[in-house]
Amino acid sequence: MKKLGFIGLGIMGKPMAINLIKAGYDLTVYDINAEAVTALAAAGARAAASIAEVAQTNPVIITMLPNSPHVKAVALGPDGIESHARAGTLLVDMSSIAPAASQEIAAALKAKKIRMLDAPVSGGEPKAVDGTLAIMVGGDEADFTEAKPLFDILGSSAVLIGPVGSGNTCKLANQVIVALNIAALSEGLMLAKKAGTDPQKVFEAIRGGLAGSTVMNAKAPMILAGNFKPGFKIDLHIKDLANALDTGYLTGAPLLLTSTAMQILQQLHAGGDGQNDHSAIARFYEKVAGETIGD
Ligand code: NAD
Repeated sequence: MKKLGFIGLGIMGKPMAINLIKAGYDLTVYDINAEAVTALAAAGARAAASIAEVAQTNPVIITMLPNSPHVKAVALGPDGIESHARAGTLLVDMSSIAPAASQEIAAALKAKKIRMLDAPVSGGEPKAVDGTLAIMVGGDEADFTEAKPLFDILGSSAVLIGPVGSGNTCKLANQVIVALNIAALSEGLMLAKKAGTDPQKVFEAIRGGLAGSTVMNAKAPMILAGNFKPGFKIDLHIKDLANALDTGYLTGAPLLLTSTAMQILQQLHAGGDGQNDHSAIARFYEKVAGETIGD
């Protein structure tokens, strides 16, 4: 059985780790949340008590953590991968973080002959469970080829975009497009409601036309049911848009609509919706309009 390390067993990491166990990998797992480690041990993983324990014994390590500071701490912190992994180890960071942070971490690891791919994903929890994530990768082609069998278990597509950092640049573009799609969906459905039509019928009528999308199919039923259980949390989307706005500032990319979406998300966070699914963008429209989109 091939040995593999996995750090970060949250909404996404847990089902991804389970799919790797099912595919026959000898998985050693770690999370600061001990309950998450216990749950994975019950599913057949080896439980590690530290990052060092994962790093010392595994030639390939996957991380699935919230944001840049967490990945920096796990990779470069005093008890992290840099200090404990063997030369030649491959780190596959599948978290969504700032592209500049991926480049900084990869450069520091390279000095210890530790290789790194940034390989964020799209698709959310359902596709993590099904093993049908869309994976966008930055790094060397040889490392991508080495990691491809893992990507084939976790996802239905894996595309090498360019050098380290470009996986996360691609993910930022994805997150901009998703946030604006949910806002447009909410705005359109609220218009339909206010003008006296049934938003459920409007969804059924337009989903097969040009406005139809994966976002619409996933999020319209949640908005119509008033079900905002995450899924992908508002607070994580704020993190992604903050990274997108920083990257836009660094590169001179105009992000007019993204700035507006960020204001909507921050108002939702201030109103207590930070831990709700990002389909709760609809709640911003509901608060302003004074009525719900669903019944
Ligand atoms: P999550 O908060 O559910 O899980 C993160 C896990 O990391 C938690 O279990 C936490 O305890 C652990 N962790 C944090 N710091 C740690 C440390 N120092 N050492 C070890 N473990 C640590 O988040 P998630 O929803 O699983 O998202 C993970 C990443 O995937 C994020 O970057 C997110 O943006 C991205 N993502 C999420 C979704 C989604 O739908 N949830 C979809 C695509 C991408």
